[in-house]
Amino acid sequence: MTELPFYEPSGNEISLFEHAFQQRLPLLIKGPTGCGKTRFVSHMAARLKLPLYTVACHDDLTAADLVGRHLISDSGTYWSDGPLTRAVREGGICYLDEVVEARKDTTVVLHPLADDRRILPIDRTGETLEAPANFMLVVSYNPGYQNLMKGLKPSTRQRFVSMRFDFPGAEREISILIGETGCDADLAKRLVGIGKAFRALKDRDLEEVASTRLLVYAATLIKSGFDVTAACRAALVESLTDDEETVEALMEIVNATF
Ligand code: ADP
Repeated sequence: MTELPFYEPSGNEISLFEHAFQQRLPLLIKGPTGCGKTRFVSHMAARLKLPLYTVACHDDLTAADLVGRHLISDSGTYWSDGPLTRAVREGGICYLDEVVEARKDTTVVLHPLADDRRILPIDRTGETLEAPANFMLVVSYNPGYQNLMKGLKPSTRQRFVSMRFDFPGAEREISILIGETGCDADLAKRLVGIGKAFRALKDRDLEEVASTRLLVYAATLIKSGFDVTAACRAALVESLTDDEETVEALMEIVNATF
């Protein structure tokens, strides 16, 4: 059996995902960037032995990018399935990361797939695909301040079972750093302490908080032999702010920790 991607659970999320999959319900995962949403989905895909089609959504992403388009070759035009269509045709999880970024026309194709019809009409080819039992639609978004205006329309949100993710508590984040990088418990504990101190500065001095991802980066650099303080500066501090005074203030926290 292939190894599952490492995932440290926080509560009942694995069971909820399994039930949603078995009952053919689509799932929405909300939470800040770098808190484990993508890792969770890849863990679940491996656990359920399903192919995973991941799409990182951006503001130019159109329905055609998801569904497919006609392409031109030497021998004429041919139809090429997009990732959503492939997942519906072949079965598997289609994961739309940061779905609120996508253009509004994409919701038109998601709606009939995300309710009990579970169909994907493809206008360009005249086909209507019925999703097989092993198809699952999963979307995620970061409900942070920058998305307040964009949000998801209630008609879209209310088609999904929703889960909230947040940064892990100290114990769990220490386990994640150890599991992910193989660093020792003492280093993990200190880094998690820095993460906690930085997170307390949110809204006052920092717009973004230190994600678990950044703590993993710091631990990775240190584990590979890089200087501890310089690793924290590169992975944690400079990634969070451009303001030099704030950099100095954050480095004081780092220096007090090591
Ligand atoms: P998101 O999709 O929420 O932006 P990711 O899933 O990419 O974040 O997580 C970023 C990194 O943080 C992962 O690559 C992994 O190293 C680590 N991570 C966060 N949460 C967990 C967790 N619960 N178990 C294992 N690794 C985690």
